Amino acid sequence: MDALPVSSLSDSLGRTIRYLRLSVTDRCNLQCVYCRDGLETFVPHESILRYEEMEQLVGLAVSLGVNKLRLTGGEPFVRRGFLDFLERLRDRYPTLDIRLTSNGTLLGPAVSRLKALGINGVNLSLDTFDRKTFERITGKDLLPQVLESMHTMLQAELPFKINVVGMQGINDSELPVFIDYALNNPVEVRFIEFMPMGEGTCWSSRIFWKGEAILAAVRKHCQVDFLKDTGAPARSYRLVKGDRQGKMGLISPVSQHFCASCNRLRLTAEGSLRTCLYDDREYRLREVLRHPRLGLPAVRRILILAVLHKPFGWRLLEKRLGAVASRRMHAIGG
Ligand code: SAM
Repeated sequence: MDALPVSSLSDSLGRTIRYLRLSVTDRCNLQCVYCRDGLETFVPHESILRYEEMEQLVGLAVSLGVNKLRLTGGEPFVRRGFLDFLERLRDRYPTLDIRLTSNGTLLGPAVSRLKALGINGVNLSLDTFDRKTFERITGKDLLPQVLESMHTMLQAELPFKINVVGMQGINDSELPVFIDYALNNPVEVRFIEFMPMGEGTCWSSRIFWKGEAILAAVRKHCQVDFLKDTGAPARSYRLVKGDRQGKMGLISPVSQHFCASCNRLRLTAEGSLRTCLYDDREYRLREVLRHPRLGLPAVRRILILAVLHKPFGWRLLEKRLGAVASRRMHAIGG
């Protein structure tokens, strides 16, 4: 098959892809109310990309201009061999910006290795500092393990951010605790709007907490200065209270989209390419990659053509009244 003479991934709206989010597993040790319900089944092992296949696909993306990779899931640390995989990626792509998203429950013992590997950053998902609420949200009594991981990352000076899904009636009363954490630690706390992803989560307009309302609530507790709008999903703010300063981010994918500057692709653990979080169209790359007469050159063609048709996801969100995607986040990778 002829190689398309292309060295970067651009779409028909002029957006250039630089960022790949790769889900290393759909499995997770938590059952967060906004992400999964207790009923779903996991993808069988043979349908999950092998690490060598993921390395090939990352290599392809890098050859097409991707310079940032986020490894997510499910929970990346539940997949055996994850750290060895990271090590191989780091060796092969020393300049690639590699980040992780994790629930933090299994992260603590890996911190020194992550630090040694030069992992660029971790996004840690934490929606509450209250043990009972943690169990109510995640289905597991594992808050102490998460707090221990955070402590270890702080000690090792491994950069991390906290992602909080804002939910009215569930964790809104803890806003001052998160603000205090941001004021007392060199860690950005980012509030994310609850997205109506997939059926069967607890999403409702009553629980949904709009970004603007979160910001207004934060302003009641401290001074909030807008820092910059980089076109990135998170708008950044400086928090000031007395002589303390901290950093906060706000991600409003529901009320204030960032489709115009979206530079990302998602690859599910089964090897399906999603060019937009809100779009259910998936390009099944695994079968093509494993096909003896197709393989990586064919995957490359599909990738280039799929990106050309990357949609403006906000339009899909506007059209739908209920859940926007048929898959929940653990299956896509967030
Ligand atoms: N297990 C890892 C973790 O907990 O960070 C990675 C996977 S998780 C699907 C990635 C991110 O998606 C988490 O920060 C989680 O809070 C977020 N997430 C999941 N479902 C969401 C939803 N419906 N709305 C907003 N964020 C969601």
